[in-house]
Amino acid sequence: MTTSAWKNSLLSIMERVGVINLLQRTGSNDRNSLYILTYHRVERPAEIPWLSEADINVTPEMFEEQMKFLSARYHPVSIEEVLDAAHGGTPLPGDAVLVTVDDGYRSFYDTIQPVCQTYGISPLLFVSTAFVEKGTFWWDKVYQIVFLSGLNELDTPIGRRSIATLKEKQYVLRELLQALKNVSFSQLTEWVDPIHSELVHLSEDQEHNTVTWDELRELRAKGVAVASHTHTHPLLTRISLEEARREVKVSQELIKRELGTALPVFAFPDGKMRAVNQNLIDMLNSEGFELVFLLQDGRARLHPENRFHTLPRLAMWPDQTLPQFHLRLTPLINWMSS
Ligand SMILES: [Zn+2]
Repeated sequence: MTTSAWKNSLLSIMERVGVINLLQRTGSNDRNSLYILTYHRVERPAEIPWLSEADINVTPEMFEEQMKFLSARYHPVSIEEVLDAAHGGTPLPGDAVLVTVDDGYRSFYDTIQPVCQTYGISPLLFVSTAFVEKGTFWWDKVYQIVFLSGLNELDTPIGRRSIATLKEKQYVLRELLQALKNVSFSQLTEWVDPIHSELVHLSEDQEHNTVTWDELRELRAKGVAVASHTHTHPLLTRISLEEARREVKVSQELIKRELGTALPVFAFPDGKMRAVNQNLIDMLNSEGFELVFLLQDGRARLHPENRFHTLPRLAMWPDQTLPQFHLRLTPLINWMSS
C-alpha cells in the first residue's frame, strides 16, 4: 500500500467513526468564520480534449457529491450574506461555506450553476472580463498551439522548439506559459493570436469555452453573483501598480456596465503568495473593495469592526476523496496550512 492509499483508508475510517465530524463541530459555533472553496472547471477531461486538463478541479459527479455534502452538513452562504456579516449585520450561520469559481469557463454555465441550484447553493463567479465572449483563454490557446497544431517544431518567443513527442509538448507548454506570464498582455497576444488562428482549427462549439455576457446576465437573473478577477488575468505582482489599478478598474466598470451592479469584492489571479503584495492590497482598499480573496489554505475570518478584509480560499483539486474534502472544512485547516 502506498503512503497516500494508507492515508486515505485512515481518513475513511476517521470519517466512518465520526472523528472528522467531531473536528468539524469544534468550530461550528464560530459565527464570524467561513470556509471558502475555489473551483475553476468541472468537466470530464475525455469530453473536451481541446483544452488542457490543468484547470479541471473535479468531475461533474464529484462536484455534485461535494455540493450535496455541503448542503446536508454545512450552511452554504451567498456573498451578499458574507458582506452583510462583514458590515456587522446578521452574523454568519455556524459552519458557513461560500462556493467560489474563478476565471469564467463555460462549465460554470453548463454544470456548476445548475448543480448549485439543485442544492440551494449561491456560487460567486470571478471573471476576467477580457475573455468574456472571446471563447478561449490565452493559456488554452497556447495549449492548443502546442498540442493540436500537428507540428513537429514550433518557433516561439523563446526560440525554436521541438514538439514532436508528448514529453516535448508538455515541457514546451510549461516553458511557454512561464515565459508568457512575464510579458504584457498585448505582447503575448501579438504572438499567440496570429499563430493560433493560422494553426488551430476547431468547431464553433469547441471555440466556446468562456462565458458570454448574455450567459452572465442569465446567471445574474438566477441569483449568481459575478465579481472581478481583473481584465486580462495577469500576475499583478509582475506589472506596475498603475497597470494593476487599470486592470481592476476596467473589469469592475465592464461588470457594472453589462450586469448593472459590481460588488466590492475581488479575487487575485493565481492568488498565491507570489501574486499578492501589500501595495496591491492597499490599492484595492483605496479603490473601494471590501473583500479581497486569495488562494491560500485557511479558514476565513470576518472582523466586523474592519471594513476591509483579505480572505483565504481553499483550492479544490482532482482526486480529492470526500473524507479529505470534509477534513479540509474543519478548523484543523488553519493548523494544516501553517
Ligand atoms: Zn484565475
